[in-house]
Amino acid sequence: MKYYSLNHNTPKVSFQEAVIQGLAPDKGLYFPESIAKLDTDFFNNIENLSNEAIAYEAIRQFVGDEIPEANLKQIIAETLCFEFPTVKVENNIYALELYHGPTMAFKDVGARFMSRCLAYFNQDKKDNKNTVLVATSGDTGGAVASGFLGVEGVDVVILYPSGKVSDIQERQLTTLGQNIKALEVDGVFDDCQDMVKKAFLDESLEYKKLTSANSINIARWLPQMFYFFFAYKQLKSQNKPMVFSCPSGNFGNICAGIMAKKLGLPIEHFVAATNVNDTVPQFLVTGKYEPKPSKATISNAMDVGNPSNFIRIQELYNNDLNAFKKDFTSFSYDDETTTQALKDIYKNSGYIAEPHGAVGYLGLKKEMQNHPDAIGIFLETAHPIKFLDIVEPVLQIELPIPTQIESVLNKEKISVKIKTYVALKAFLQSS
Ligand SMILES: *Cc1c(COP(=O)(O)O)cnc(C)c1O
Repeated sequence: MKYYSLNHNTPKVSFQEAVIQGLAPDKGLYFPESIAKLDTDFFNNIENLSNEAIAYEAIRQFVGDEIPEANLKQIIAETLCFEFPTVKVENNIYALELYHGPTMAFKDVGARFMSRCLAYFNQDKKDNKNTVLVATSGDTGGAVASGFLGVEGVDVVILYPSGKVSDIQERQLTTLGQNIKALEVDGVFDDCQDMVKKAFLDESLEYKKLTSANSINIARWLPQMFYFFFAYKQLKSQNKPMVFSCPSGNFGNICAGIMAKKLGLPIEHFVAATNVNDTVPQFLVTGKYEPKPSKATISNAMDVGNPSNFIRIQELYNNDLNAFKKDFTSFSYDDETTTQALKDIYKNSGYIAEPHGAVGYLGLKKEMQNHPDAIGIFLETAHPIKFLDIVEPVLQIELPIPTQIESVLNKEKISVKIKTYVALKAFLQSS
């Protein structure tokens, strides 16, 4: 499979090159040059297939012959080492829980898949390391740290805003050691992101072979398609149209859902639910795409003012706004409404959501008014324990600590404090 840049100013590349580069040399996001529908037999028979078999069918055309079948199946098996249950919350409303992985965030799947692809491509070039450089507002860092831990041929450098991620999130990215380094930035997430972008453009760092592990990287983005297939497999027997609501920040997850639909998965409608960082909901109202600086909210993994994957969504619809609007709506919710939703969900059904899932639930409930015969699925993208500072006082409960989290709580934090790009560069050059 070849990938082209959405800036159209650079030659097409292979899957391998796209994964290693992350972003195209012309700063565009990579996009597959063709997308073929899967057989109807596959969908007719999906309930009899394992998650691994489903994932293999979904992703194989995007990898092509660049990873042999047996290796790709092995990568998928290592990626999908946990469950993806759909949990009934109300009549016709389900939570798709994506948080049962090692760091209890949905980003585990993309991080595990990408790290193993890179390791496969690097297996014969031990002296030729890649450096994964990533900025995190919270959850990406932990998932990337865990997903890449001990992976041969890859060093990982994670930038996070000092004091702006939760205690658990910070421990998940600062306590692992080995090939994982954490840089604590005196600033906000946007400062981290800006420094990372600058490093990618810095020719004097070319020898470090920097790549990203954000959802701009196709190997992080594409495996997120799997979730939608897994939910379909579990709920298919109900014989109802399906509406999915994704709590959205960089819009990678929902964009992967739209890819799944392109592959033939029968999804009736998508909702992108955001916090007050409402660039996309505003775009759907005004037709103007106006990125803004991000604002801090209680759903901090979605504090994104310029969602990087939105351009891929537009490409999936050939930039046809009317076709897009038929399949897709987007709503924004403030922290107060989100907090109230957390309470309501718990009071009405006993289900413990967290702020991101609650935003997804709100968007779903609103859209379901237009789909009375459908079932609605909102993605629960993190375990409530990751946001215990909010969930515990709001619901007045105490959450038991899952084993995945317990294992990092008593480990020592190791980070390097930096403030400027000069400091980042010096760090990269000396490591
Ligand atoms: C990253 C993240 C999101 C947003 O996902 P995107 O693919 O960036 O839209 C939502 N919830 C949680 C918990 C996350 O970590």
